[in-house]
Amino acid sequence: MNNYLDPYRDTGLLHLWAERLQKYQGKPLKLMEVCGTHTMAIARYGIRTLLPERIRLVSGPGCPVCVTPSYYINSAVALARRPETIVATFGDLMRIPGDEGSLLEAKSLGADIRVLYSPLDALKIARDNPERQVVLLSVGFETTTPIFALAIDKASQEGLNNFTVLSANKTMPEVLKVLAGDPTVGIDGYLYPGHVSAIIGTRFYEELAEKYGVPGVVAGFEPLDILTAVAALSEICNEGRHTVRNLYTRVVKPEGNPRAVQAMERVFEPADAVWRGIGRISGSGLAIREEYARYDAWKVFDLQIGEYSEPEGCRCGEILKGTKSPGDCPLFGTRCVPENPVGACMVSSEGTCAAHYKYGGIR
Ligand code: SF4
Repeated sequence: MNNYLDPYRDTGLLHLWAERLQKYQGKPLKLMEVCGTHTMAIARYGIRTLLPERIRLVSGPGCPVCVTPSYYINSAVALARRPETIVATFGDLMRIPGDEGSLLEAKSLGADIRVLYSPLDALKIARDNPERQVVLLSVGFETTTPIFALAIDKASQEGLNNFTVLSANKTMPEVLKVLAGDPTVGIDGYLYPGHVSAIIGTRFYEELAEKYGVPGVVAGFEPLDILTAVAALSEICNEGRHTVRNLYTRVVKPEGNPRAVQAMERVFEPADAVWRGIGRISGSGLAIREEYARYDAWKVFDLQIGEYSEPEGCRCGEILKGTKSPGDCPLFGTRCVPENPVGACMVSSEGTCAAHYKYGGIR
């Protein structure tokens, strides 16, 4: 074996675990994978096709682009249209439809929008263009927020005065509580996100399991990681235990990554946030602290938090709560396709509709 991940793709072991899962005779379960990377991996490896009818795996709100409300895109497009600004962003945000078009459309009409590989690249753009205002679009969970925090901190140390960040960063714990406590969602157990858990650790999940009675398993992203995690979670749920297991110990420690958390907390503080399809959740977002207010694009450009709306007919909201599947949306595969998306779940490389369109198999 050449690749250290090969053992996690061993087809013989995969068949054994799939056979074991097929023998599951316990109560019907609805399990939620919380992370967009899991959503893609589950679809790519056809994990759902290996599960028995009694175990249903639904996708949750763990794709950061998908849960970003339309007013954020509207604000980004409005900023991009200003002649004095350069908007810097990851590529995933480019094609999300806003009320007045997408960033890609704004770019085609002449807006200066640069696609980045790292948020730190935006600092170089600011240094190279002292007469322009560079606005970095910042969307993500605990996994990516520390690097945005680093960019802001570095800008502050350098005294850059033409650099700001339009933040829509969010954190996982509060939305997990909301979904765990919502009887209309009816989750029996969570498949926890490996990346986010590497930062925040596993202790919060234990509190959640105890308080809401929803157990969970932390899983990696290879097919054997996911299949064994589903098997373990099904067993825990069926036995009525409210416990948490970490099956991704090669990456996730109970205490997480305290240095990354400190970097994030130095620059950001908890704030209310609007989640597409779920609504406003107290303390589920991150706002730039007052000490760094000169880097906060919401304040510097006096932008208003707009009304939250879904494109007409789009069911992204229910899909992000795990109460509907992409196949329930009448626009899926007809009016809404990756080349011409209607909603964010079809745009992002981690979106549930995009995963279903590419690989199928989401029931
Ligand atoms: S298929 Fe398109 S329109 Fe339908 S829910 Fe998904 S993203 Fe929204």
